[in-house]
Amino acid sequence: MYDYLIAGAGFTGAVLAERLASVSGMKILITDRRPHTGGNAYDYHDSNGVLVHKYGAHIFHTNSDRIWNYISRFTAWNGYNHRVDAMVESKPVPLPVNLDSLDALFNSREAKDISAALINEYGLNNKVAVLDLIECSNPILRKAGEVIYEKIYYKYTLKQWELSPRELKKSVTSRLPVYTTRGSSYFNDKYQGLPSGGYSPIFSKLLNNKNIDVITGMPFREAEKTFRFSKVIFTGAADEFFDFVQGSLPYRSLRFENFHYNKSSFQERAVINYPDDRPYTRILEFRKMTLQETAGTTIAYEYPQKYVRGENEPYYPIPSRENELIHKKYRLMADKLNSVTFAGRLADYTYYNMDQAIGRALSIYDKIAGKKV
Ligand SMILES: Cc1cc2nc3c(=O)[nH]c(=O)nc-3n(C[C@H](O)[C@H](O)[C@H](O)COP(=O)(O)OP(=O)(O)OC[C@H]3O[C@@H](n4cnc5c(N)ncnc54)[C@H](O)[C@@H]3O)c2cc1C
Repeated sequence: MYDYLIAGAGFTGAVLAERLASVSGMKILITDRRPHTGGNAYDYHDSNGVLVHKYGAHIFHTNSDRIWNYISRFTAWNGYNHRVDAMVESKPVPLPVNLDSLDALFNSREAKDISAALINEYGLNNKVAVLDLIECSNPILRKAGEVIYEKIYYKYTLKQWELSPRELKKSVTSRLPVYTTRGSSYFNDKYQGLPSGGYSPIFSKLLNNKNIDVITGMPFREAEKTFRFSKVIFTGAADEFFDFVQGSLPYRSLRFENFHYNKSSFQERAVINYPDDRPYTRILEFRKMTLQETAGTTIAYEYPQKYVRGENEPYYPIPSRENELIHKKYRLMADKLNSVTFAGRLADYTYYNMDQAIGRALSIYDKIAGKKV
């Protein structure tokens, strides 16, 4: 008899399992339908011995001391500082767009004028959404906004979402920023890096507890029929849990094509974006972020695609009013179930970074335990 059956062994499920087992001494069964734990953060050594991320590049970053201190109990960090370029007309442009990117996109006279106008309008060390820039009253900034939109964001967004930035919700388009800063670190969080040794060992440590049993390759419905338990934490998709009675929640999916080369470097950065007509959006070079010393290098081409249930993975919830309404109906159904807690990027139908998933798990634990960790 388990206190909790947890469905899904990504960060949300694994952190909840760890807290409930090690602090509250509860008996936990955690099950994942995939053949491994780690959720989308799962990594493994490929046949050439290169540590690769199966579900796309994962770089940890957070501003939260609590989340950093918590997860750092399970890993050391490699000190990697994420930098991304967009390849525009064969020239690398630092992302997110900032004052340095202007030097790569415009001639030096134009870049100087745009920088001065941006700082004058928005101040130094600030940011403005590119779509707001296009609508601002200063003609220099409007023109610059249009060039940045066309060259950096338009085709990339179209490939990623099959929607133009103007058709997407503001919550997504406000993520297409122009920063009035210099320096090309992709994240400006207090903490960032990749776990030394990878993400999968974090999950082994989180779940290595005499009170936790782990089963992989078993979906929730099967575990539910096979084991006895008092309560459930469900981190899978909300629509699936309720047999799609309120309709399906759509996602965007991705396909990765990996290649190995017998050379130490393939490209300048761990991630290079291609905001052009090529069918892929990014090329990832794993050893540039894991900092693993290997003779050869493995890269992955990332192709966005439609999500088809049962055929590929649901990666990104598609934020729209209509989808939010469907999810709200499932949330209301979920609220009525006292013995089931819904959490995580699939159950909440929300894009979470890893730190947010951990933070949400810690706060759910707080509620269950009625105390702070
Ligand atoms: C391409 C990509 C890149 C990303 N890069 C970053 C990054 O650089 N930095 C960052 O902070 N975050 C990144 N993220 C986000 C990160 O992956 C999420 O924050 C994290 O996965 C959330 O953890 P989770 O446990 O909520 O969900 P998941 O990791 O998705 O785990 C849920 C688990 O539940 C399992 N499951 C689902 N349904 C069932 C069922 N019915 N029965 C049993 N098991 C089930 C799934 O198999 C899965 O393993 C990225 C996401 C994507 C898609």
